Amino acid sequence: MSESTSQRSGGGIPYTLTRKKVKNINLRVRGDGSVWVSASPRVPLAQIDRFVADHGLWIARAREKAQTRRENRMAQPLPEPGQALAEMEAICREFYPCFQKVLPRGMPRIIIKDISSSWGICRPGKGEITFALRLAAQPRAAREYVAVHEYCHFLVPNHSPAFWAEVEKILPDWKERRALLP
Ligand SMILES: [Zn+2]
Repeated sequence: MSESTSQRSGGGIPYTLTRKKVKNINLRVRGDGSVWVSASPRVPLAQIDRFVADHGLWIARAREKAQTRRENRMAQPLPEPGQALAEMEAICREFYPCFQKVLPRGMPRIIIKDISSSWGICRPGKGEITFALRLAAQPRAAREYVAVHEYCHFLVPNHSPAFWAEVEKILPDWKERRALLP
């Protein structure tokens, strides 16, 4: 990626700044409540910090809405484990051809567990992917993102830029998909 990203704060609000060719300054609050700003390289840092500080109230409201959305999604009844497994296996089978070269022994073993710490866990050594039972209640686009994310850990074990580059190769819109998750 040629974009440069940095962690900053404006008016006590921490945010991630990406420099790219946008008109002026774009401000976004993600589903997890984090604040993301993209700004043209021409805009001075002090002006961006001030912009974030000036939008404090708007950010607080957006965070509240995101929080409510998150709570509503988490309050949904748990899906049925057998069906969740069948659905995640189907998605993994669909994406398997993209990872066949690193998984010559076949599809990874898919496990469904009622975990809340993460949406998925990849154990490359064991050839296993575990998905959270709650994931089955999420939109299909988001489930595909988690499947590809875990698959990519067979290629890169950490979350380095090389890892995200692999995710992006298969799902160029992975950021929008990830934003669907509470
Ligand atoms: Zn990961």
